[in-house]
Amino acid sequence: MKKIACFCIPAHGHTNPMIAVAAALVKRGNRVRFYSFREFEERITATGAEFVACDAFLPEVTDAQLARLKKVSTTEMSIQDIRSTLRMDSFLTADFAAFKPDVVFTDSVCFWGKLSAMKHHVPMVVSTSTFAFNSMSSTYMKHSFGEMLDLMGGMPRVGRELKTLQPYGYDVKNVMTLVQNDNRTDTVVYATREYQPYSETFSGHYAFVGPALRTDIVPAKQKDRPLVYISMGTVINDRPELYRNCISALKDRPLDVLISCGRTMDPSSLAPLPANVQVQPYVNQLVVLSKADVFISHCGMNSASESLYMATPMVLYPQTGEQQAVARRVKEMGAGVMLADDTAAGIRSAVETLLGDRQYTEAAARLSESFRDGSGAEGAAAFIEEAPHKTDDMGVLGEVQKRSGFMQLCFWLIVTPLLVLLGIQAGWPWAIGLSVIANIAFPKLNQRYTERAYRNLAKARRTKRQAVHPAA
Ligand code: UDP
Repeated sequence: MKKIACFCIPAHGHTNPMIAVAAALVKRGNRVRFYSFREFEERITATGAEFVACDAFLPEVTDAQLARLKKVSTTEMSIQDIRSTLRMDSFLTADFAAFKPDVVFTDSVCFWGKLSAMKHHVPMVVSTSTFAFNSMSSTYMKHSFGEMLDLMGGMPRVGRELKTLQPYGYDVKNVMTLVQNDNRTDTVVYATREYQPYSETFSGHYAFVGPALRTDIVPAKQKDRPLVYISMGTVINDRPELYRNCISALKDRPLDVLISCGRTMDPSSLAPLPANVQVQPYVNQLVVLSKADVFISHCGMNSASESLYMATPMVLYPQTGEQQAVARRVKEMGAGVMLADDTAAGIRSAVETLLGDRQYTEAAARLSESFRDGSGAEGAAAFIEEAPHKTDDMGVLGEVQKRSGFMQLCFWLIVTPLLVLLGIQAGWPWAIGLSVIANIAFPKLNQRYTERAYRNLAKARRTKRQAVHPAA
């Protein structure tokens, strides 16, 4: 029996998988203390874990700060996380002294969980509610200009805020060391190795357990008419114009539509509704997805995993960089189409593509099977109990980077003298022109080379792992 302290921010997408893991930890005989927020109290208590309310420690926010938080501003979230950490400091110090946890299991962006583990020298396991991101897998993200501006412009403010932590014994150099995935931290990822992009670049400190879902529900798609389910998740879901476009796209079709519009907008504002459309503020998403034939989704990690778990192909409509990564991966796996045109005509065409071509449903069904083979919440619980993990397996990232760097060096060692020679012999305009072409072509060539190097190294690592653990 171990004593495990769980920490999460007040967000459904981050908390849901951790609740499933907490339930598994309790079932396995551990004592679990879950530091969370009142809206999750009932579900956390139902797992048998002790619930600790942290609502009172969240700082008051101005309307402007709230607006930035609603837009998922990384800068504002980091600043508020740091302030919350300071407000919780003396309470958590006393609580750690009394509870004496053996392991801290904390969400990857919950600063107070991570920093408390570091300050009190307790082994830490990080829960990553998205894919794991390093220099290779983060190429799947496509940040908008606004997100980039927020990230870059906010650095000095976050840096100043971080300095306020130092007198309290929190030794943090910069915010990246707090939020990025590194190859030395024990980390649970709710994706299977197959689904996680570039999974073999991650070290033996990573457990790719697949979706942590507590359900016996299985896909059951037999019915008279197809069901199209629409949700933009629980954070940025106040999207009446999108829901209206979906309604006008699908109102005359021989299918049923269910929209989960979230709790910030009034469902009646979409009235009058056609006979085949229903709108609700919140639904039991797993039950709905088990019956749905198409899911129009913002591509939150949880929603996408639940959809694939229930063998439902997706119309992919990502809103943030992380959701962009999920969308790209689902498309790559053949289980969805991107919604490039969010007008009624674009939505109708995307839904008809998924309903008219079995290959999307089949790809989703194949992923559903592989997700169900994942170790899920049980696997995560076993991994947490055994922390801290020792491993020499650092993944293939270093070797891939070495090969790509060597290729780059060779290229410039060969090309630079050739360009100089060309400049002298044929004239500098020729040399400059060729250097521009080389600068455009080389990154693409090197990317292909890096991909190939990754595939070969990954295959070798998989073979080695299977030789040691045949079931892996
Ligand atoms: N969810 C739900 N009912 C709803 C809408 C959402 O149960 O009507 C759940 C969904 O099952 C998922 C979570 O809320 O587990 C949303 O998480 P996700 O990572 O998909 O998106 P986020 O809300 O964090 O943007």
